[in-house]
Amino acid sequence: MKKPICPNCGGYIPNNETPGAYMGALSRRDNETEICSDCGTREAMEDYILSMKQSGYGQN
Ligand SMILES: [Zn+2]
Repeated sequence: MKKPICPNCGGYIPNNETPGAYMGALSRRDNETEICSDCGTREAMEDYILSMKQSGYGQN
C-alpha cells in the first residue's frame, strides 16, 4: 500500500510514526490537499494568528 506523503513538509501522513494509519488534515489553503497532522495544526495556528491580526488584536 502506497504511503501518503505530505506535500508541505515531505513527511508521512498522518505522521512519521504511523504512515497511512488514518487520514491526515485537509489543507486550509485549497480545501482538497491532504497534509500531515503537524502541518494541519500549523495552518490552523497561522489562520488563528491571522484572524487575530485582522481583528485588530495587538495593534496600537
Ligand atoms: Zn506536513
